[in-house]
Amino acid sequence: VSVAEVTVGVDVGGTKIAAGAYSAGRLGEITLARTTHESTEALLEQIVWITHASASRLDRLDAVGVSVAGEVRHRDGIVVSASHLPISDCPLAERLAARLGVPVALDNDGNCAAIAEAHLDRSEPARDLVMVTLGTGVGGGVIAAGRVLRGRTGIGAELGHLVLDAAGPRCFGACPGRGCLEALCSGTALVRNANALGENEPTSQLGVILTRAGTLSAEDVVSAAQQGDPQARALLHNLGRWLGVALNSLINIFEPSEIAIGGGLSTASEWFLPAALEEARSRTGAMQWRAVKIGIARAGTRASIAGAALLGEVRLLGASASVNGCSAPLVERVLWPPRPGTVS
Ligand SMILES: [Zn+2]
Repeated sequence: VSVAEVTVGVDVGGTKIAAGAYSAGRLGEITLARTTHESTEALLEQIVWITHASASRLDRLDAVGVSVAGEVRHRDGIVVSASHLPISDCPLAERLAARLGVPVALDNDGNCAAIAEAHLDRSEPARDLVMVTLGTGVGGGVIAAGRVLRGRTGIGAELGHLVLDAAGPRCFGACPGRGCLEALCSGTALVRNANALGENEPTSQLGVILTRAGTLSAEDVVSAAQQGDPQARALLHNLGRWLGVALNSLINIFEPSEIAIGGGLSTASEWFLPAALEEARSRTGAMQWRAVKIGIARAGTRASIAGAALLGEVRLLGASASVNGCSAPLVERVLWPPRPGTVS
């Protein structure tokens, strides 16, 4: 890729859509908007608009990568379903390519975040890495032997639905399961548990906030924990222990060299990560435990945008064809980023 080429990464989430132009190893300024829920057509228009808005700063556009929070078939560029977006069974990559006049690559947000995490601030890409994103839901991505693991059609590696407790609470969205990672460790699960606690104990700190505000948010729980509320801390500690159960399974299944924890909830990791590490360590063989690094994701909130932009660049290079329907190769020819500190 010559230095002048520009790919735009777009992250389409349930509440916000964000994009940035990537060129010569640098991700530029991020453009943000509230995601439209009006119609599929309106959402397409919004993606086209935010792509042009990002590319206009550099006056050039060569390819686009789009990250969507939902079930996405990377290979044929189709959004199968997305519970928080007005889009399903849509050949999004093809439709966007027709409007934008450049190649478009598509993947889910967990895979994009994993791709960014595997490339960011490293002399060479991580080859065996598991990414877990804790947000409203739980997403994730798996890089195995230098490739993104996507399953047969591309909707595999859904780490959020790894079952931790067969008789556990019902999962969210379209998942018919119980006791999934998402049902126990997502922001939504935290809110469910906090509301139950507040209802049962109206004089507790969370109970008082619940009575005043009508409902609790994940932020309420985190700020109560920061203020020293033992019950809020216990909720996050308990979330951490379930996360530790999941980490143990991820270590056993994938034998990664790294597991990165990202997503909005990861900013509150001081209240759950120690419990997660303790739980995982107690369940994992000593040799395996020593061989894996577990920590908070380095890519931060721009991970999905950066990963999408890298996918766009792969599409531009024509390097995405691969055997077994498994994946696009990682972007091993792209130096990421040539100057440190260009992406945070
Ligand atoms: Zn589930």
